[in-house]
Amino acid sequence: MPICNLNQKNFDPEQDYPELSKHNNWMAKCLTKEIYAANRDKVTKFGVTLDQCIQTGVDNPGHPFIMTVGATAGDEESYETFADLFDPIIDKRHGGYAKDAKHKTDLNPDHLQGGDDLDPNYVLSSRVRTGRSIRGYSLPPNCTRAERRAVERITVDALNGLDGEFKGKYYPLSGMTEEEQDKLIEDHFLFDKPVSPLLTCAGMARDWPDARGIWHNENKDFLVWVNEEDHIRVISMEKGGNMKKVFKRFCDGLNKVESLMKSKGKEYSWNEHLGYILTCPSNLGTGLRGGVHVKVPNLSKDSRFDDILEKLRLQKRGTGGVDTAAVGGTFDISNADRLGYSEVELCQFVIDGVKLLIEMEKKLEKKQPIDDLIPKEKKK
Ligand code: ADP
Ligand code: MG
Repeated sequence: MPICNLNQKNFDPEQDYPELSKHNNWMAKCLTKEIYAANRDKVTKFGVTLDQCIQTGVDNPGHPFIMTVGATAGDEESYETFADLFDPIIDKRHGGYAKDAKHKTDLNPDHLQGGDDLDPNYVLSSRVRTGRSIRGYSLPPNCTRAERRAVERITVDALNGLDGEFKGKYYPLSGMTEEEQDKLIEDHFLFDKPVSPLLTCAGMARDWPDARGIWHNENKDFLVWVNEEDHIRVISMEKGGNMKKVFKRFCDGLNKVESLMKSKGKEYSWNEHLGYILTCPSNLGTGLRGGVHVKVPNLSKDSRFDDILEKLRLQKRGTGGVDTAAVGGTFDISNADRLGYSEVELCQFVIDGVKLLIEMEKKLEKKQPIDDLIPKEKKK
């Protein structure tokens, strides 16, 4: 939870340095005693401290599948004020990202090659999501109840302006029955309850369920989450393997939401270097996670599976979300990167990579070797 202890300054930073010797996350690897000492007493304009930013990584040493970041930003300024820590974390998490690198955005679905025919016998569903933060408000680990409620109001106000296939309705968590909520979670539409220790330790679950909710269109294929890990998460999804269609709807809807926000005088937190500013450094840049639920029971048993995914720049999760394990050989496979590549490029990695995984799975079903299909180098 956020630390605001005025007695802290009466102790040496060395005495306050967290125990990280058994940790395996990027924060633990990057936070030296020197960086901690130089930054412990800094506070951003919205009151964010270094201790608050690292708490999730102190309390969560590691994760079974993913190398977690171990740090969250409490506001847009955190990335500048605590750059001594965030810069190396960003560089490491994103596989090398120079301090003067410029982020690129491409939300034109016409630039995507193929992707409308991922085999539905293997691909159960396709999804693309991103996050956005509204400038001038603390990010979820630091926001007050009033800020959170303002974010909800601004978002719902803007979303109410959507029409045509995007026309929809907002459902606040507080207005739902437990059963309605469980059903939405089970059907993969809604974020989980605040069970994730990554989320709770960062302070993002405070006041739950106040000002949290989900907005979706009538088809339930364009959805917006409000005040979970980011101010908003924008999602396009549907059953089957038409990633191209999902990405097009994602781009169209996202562009419309941005215009509506602008018409209300609001802008997103963004800069040329880091792209879209989000709570977790892993999501900086595009914030984009495009992925499929895909059945690969044979391939996932192959000892080379993890290495293949890495070469294809993909990441695996269980199908119930980031904190779940895969059941029956069905995985959530998505792009591993967010920053340094455009939205189109990341989605292209998913389309090309998943096609190849399915080709491998089909060979393994027939007990044929896959050696010649395995990529030699990491994709660029
Ligand atoms: P996110 O990156 O969007 O926060 P999580 O891993 O936290 O993703 O999962 C959030 C929810 O989205 C879960 O219910 C998960 O099952 C669902 N989800 C993620 N990817 C897909 C997909 N390709 N198809 C269907 N549901 C998905
Ligand atoms: Mg999540």
